[in-house]
Amino acid sequence: MLKLISKTANKLPLPTSCYGCQNLIINKSASYSLCQDCYDNLPRFNDSTCSFCFHEHPSNQCLETDEWRLDELRSIFHYHKPVSRWLLSFKYNHNLLVGRILQDLFYRYWQLNAHLFEEYDFIIPMPRHKKFNLRPKLNAIFYIVKGIKLAKLRIDKIKHTKSLPRQATLNKAQREKNMSKRGIFKVDKTLSGKSILLLDDVCTTGATIRNLARELRINKVKKVGALVFMREGWNRLQR
Ligand SMILES: [Zn+2]
Ligand SMILES: [Zn+2]
Repeated sequence: MLKLISKTANKLPLPTSCYGCQNLIINKSASYSLCQDCYDNLPRFNDSTCSFCFHEHPSNQCLETDEWRLDELRSIFHYHKPVSRWLLSFKYNHNLLVGRILQDLFYRYWQLNAHLFEEYDFIIPMPRHKKFNLRPKLNAIFYIVKGIKLAKLRIDKIKHTKSLPRQATLNKAQREKNMSKRGIFKVDKTLSGKSILLLDDVCTTGATIRNLARELRINKVKKVGALVFMREGWNRLQR
């Protein structure tokens, strides 16, 4: 009898309340554990806002593109609540329910927008220094995309061999210097002539992505783009 009960319990649809508003889910959204209202109200980056500079201007007309050494930068969300809070909870409390939500959000974005990224040969999550590789804390994007079958995903083509000092503790000049340091990444020779889409969880100053983009250019990579889960304005950090 006990066995029967536990068998039945396993089949019950769980959970029935929304992780965002705690209300019972009446309208299910595309994400596990979120109601349609909460899902619709997430702080998405809208198409007319430039992910480089946050201004609204026609695409391909950003003055900052060269400085970043990226052909394009796209963001799924702004670094705002509740998604920012969820990411922290995933990274620091290893909250797997929220990990599943983040994964669904990424997956849904990918389903709707994969055509934008068709011309890339490889999709590569920002590599982390090997000492951080197994810890979701510092490698959230890897865990978010791990369960999603992205045919062009590669994780062994770029190695992060030297760590950069934490960007948040540096002023602008120090960050710029950091950005141009060589030897932070080791790039596989087979990437030469290819188009590469980098993925990251949060992009603030973009110093690490820019450093890698520069390294990829030196290694003759044809096109470098980036898709970030969340984009945070660095005004917050300017002193
Ligand atoms: Zn809700
Ligand atoms: Zn712009």
